[in-house]
Amino acid sequence: MSKPLDDTHDQNARTWVESARRPGHDFPIQNLPFGVFRRRGRNEAPRIGIAIGDEVLDLARVVSQGLLDSLEQPIREALVANNLNPLLALGRDAGSQVRAEVFELLLEDVPAARRPADCLVPVANAELLLPVDIGDYSDFYASLHHATNVGSMFRPENPLLPNYKYVPIGYHGRASSIVVSGTPVRRPLGQTKDDQATGPVFGPSRGLDYESEIGCYLALGTSLGGQVVLADAEQYLFGVCLLNDWSARDIQRWEYQPLGPFLAKSFATTVSPWVVTFDALAPFRQPAFDRPAGDPDPLPYLANERDRRSGGIALTVEVYLESDKMRAEGIGPMRLSRGSLGSMYWTMAQLVTHHASNGCNLRPGDLIGSGTISGETKESRGCLLELTWRGSDPISLPTGELRRFLQDGDEVILTGYCERDGFARIGLGECRGSVVAA
Ligand code: CA
Repeated sequence: MSKPLDDTHDQNARTWVESARRPGHDFPIQNLPFGVFRRRGRNEAPRIGIAIGDEVLDLARVVSQGLLDSLEQPIREALVANNLNPLLALGRDAGSQVRAEVFELLLEDVPAARRPADCLVPVANAELLLPVDIGDYSDFYASLHHATNVGSMFRPENPLLPNYKYVPIGYHGRASSIVVSGTPVRRPLGQTKDDQATGPVFGPSRGLDYESEIGCYLALGTSLGGQVVLADAEQYLFGVCLLNDWSARDIQRWEYQPLGPFLAKSFATTVSPWVVTFDALAPFRQPAFDRPAGDPDPLPYLANERDRRSGGIALTVEVYLESDKMRAEGIGPMRLSRGSLGSMYWTMAQLVTHHASNGCNLRPGDLIGSGTISGETKESRGCLLELTWRGSDPISLPTGELRRFLQDGDEVILTGYCERDGFARIGLGECRGSVVAA
């Protein structure tokens, strides 16, 4: 199911790109994530790139120099597009071939004359764009701990609803308000109602929160009425990004029954610019979440031995916050939490299989969110709602400021990485967003 390991995962592989050899860099030669960029200050069309160290490899330029001629024509054509959709439509294997070829071009033993050095753009000179034209976005709720924590705040008598351990719960998000890292996020307006109030009021949210998640871009697609059997589901998983599902808790609380979140979440979702492929993630696969004794087995369409054995991903996600005052005083961001995608109750393959199980079509470039990544410990809770227990236990910032929910000027920064003995560490880069006043 997960791809076998190959030369591209060799921890001893070295590149001639100096900055990518720095220990701990998110983008060593073993990663090679895809993105879309434009050189700053130029009025040029977006182009596909691959991150290597502090540089972006301009794939259109590499193709034009004939350095990827071993790839079939449709793949080369997809690499000169303005977004990753044509590549995703060719399926996961096309991405694997590109990554493997680029790996060879960047290896240290490539003679200087054959290195595509003039195809590198310093990332500081690049404007990173949304990598995919996202047709549809669905967000799941795959962390048992998040669901239990949130449920116990809103329904103390009945925290985990009886469907949770059978159905991967999700909702349809809004694709058109997905923005790339660095885009400011305006505090939403909406209806809220305090517990003691007799009626709702309309105004700026006072309960703005983030949710720390992993997003997954889909390759291939299905037709209406089609299905994705779990044994094939990994073929639909192209790569992952960091995802911040901004959430207005006060709006959510008033609107969410009976149909789930709507305006509490549709105002913005931020994603990181780089798509880390499932090929790069191969060394970090692990067993699916170990269901405690007494939990039901998944229904047969959501169960198979390979997914149980290797459907999980050991991916750590951290959340940092920097207030205006922290920035002014030069303190730097403070870490709020650290969680692991491995603690999720459902695997990405199960989420895709479930999504298509009713005959709903999937399209290349669709984005699915994992749901807030929260673990068992307080330190691993992936949103302020849980960390501050709905504001009753505020967080102290180094400036002496308190946070129950986000204030204007606060910047939320998600980072993510995979580490395992015997392999090079790889990272997802950053997903940043600052809150601006309503
Ligand atoms: Ca969410």
